[in-house]
Amino acid sequence: MKLQENISLKEYNTFGIDARAKYFAAFNTLSELEETLECSKQAMGNDKGETLILGGGSNILFTKNYDGVVLKNQLLGIKKIAEDEAYVYVQSGAGENWHQLVLYCISNGWAGVENLSLIPGSVGASPMQNIGAYGVDIKDVFHSLEAFHIQEKETIIFDTAACEFGYRESIFKGKYKNQFVISNVTFRLRKKPSLNTSYGAIEQELELMGVKEPNIQSVSKAVINIRSSKLPDPAVIGNAGSFFKNPEISSAGFKLLKELHPGVVGYVLPNDNVKLAAGWLIEQCGWKGYRKGDAGCHAKQALVLVNYGTATGNEIFALSEQIIDSVNKKFGVLLSREVNVV
Ligand SMILES: Cc1cc2nc3c(=O)[nH]c(=O)nc-3n(C[C@H](O)[C@H](O)[C@H](O)COP(=O)(O)OP(=O)(O)OC[C@H]3O[C@@H](n4cnc5c(N)ncnc54)[C@H](O)[C@@H]3O)c2cc1C
Repeated sequence: MKLQENISLKEYNTFGIDARAKYFAAFNTLSELEETLECSKQAMGNDKGETLILGGGSNILFTKNYDGVVLKNQLLGIKKIAEDEAYVYVQSGAGENWHQLVLYCISNGWAGVENLSLIPGSVGASPMQNIGAYGVDIKDVFHSLEAFHIQEKETIIFDTAACEFGYRESIFKGKYKNQFVISNVTFRLRKKPSLNTSYGAIEQELELMGVKEPNIQSVSKAVINIRSSKLPDPAVIGNAGSFFKNPEISSAGFKLLKELHPGVVGYVLPNDNVKLAAGWLIEQCGWKGYRKGDAGCHAKQALVLVNYGTATGNEIFALSEQIIDSVNKKFGVLLSREVNVV
């Protein structure tokens, strides 16, 4: 197994940031991963050499060259491993493309992931930040995953509770950051769909499509249509989707905010807190459509920061700092980043 040296990561991150990795390798099997980790240890000269596992690079911002080993996950394979009366259990290699897995499930009539159509990236990263869209999070269809501990060199199985899923969070983004390589994920999918069309513009889009009796195919198509019209395609303009999370505040805080800013947009959560639309807060501070050099805030979706070509990770990061500052000054609300900053 050979490590490549001084490799540009531009093709490996959807922001299109031209950072370089000191060492780089791709692995296709778990034994290749183990071999690569061993080579990395030798190359870095000690046990502490940093390792970054990369999927599709669609939730990452490189602000500097990576002074360690970047390992690209290419573990493939999708199979049905069990079923009962109500569910099928589908296991996917972590290197599979998320949207291809969604399409595969839909073509087999397995329901639950249709609202998560067209989210970029790999299957392995999906539990990492509990990906979600249009009222569904991956935790709703998650069964378990296998992850390889980089130091201990053993595979551990995590069930839903062990993953400690939260809003765009899991134990792998927190306490176990950079400690595990997620190698495969098993999903529990319904044989009989329970469609969720109440969120966002799905119903409206289904109507436009002339669909009277929605099914998983049409819901997926509706989601694809909405996303394609709203979100910039990373193949055209570099971006990593929503750069910030929607902040959660108390209902008392929301009441106060509403008095000062009657247009503020928020959704009441089951715990009575209110989730604010970060895009609205950012737009109110005048950032929507802003551009300095090649770093900007998208003209249709203020939550998405973009690289028009040659922006550096630091320029994008500096813009995110300015946005956080101005939202805090105007609304007293602190935004946090959804994207992994490296
Ligand atoms: C246009 C666009 C739209 C988007 N829309 C959404 C959306 O609607 N909802 C949503 O939730 N996200 C969205 N995203 C963000 C992104 O698609 C997801 O976060 C996705 O899961 C990232 O997958 P990836 O393989 O590209 O991860 P990467 O960017 O490669 O990695 C992200 C993090 O996960 C770690 N990681 C990756 N693979 C593994 C592994 N196998 N084991 C351990 N750690 C790993 C990396 O080290 C890194 O810290 C969007 C992004 C774009 C560009």
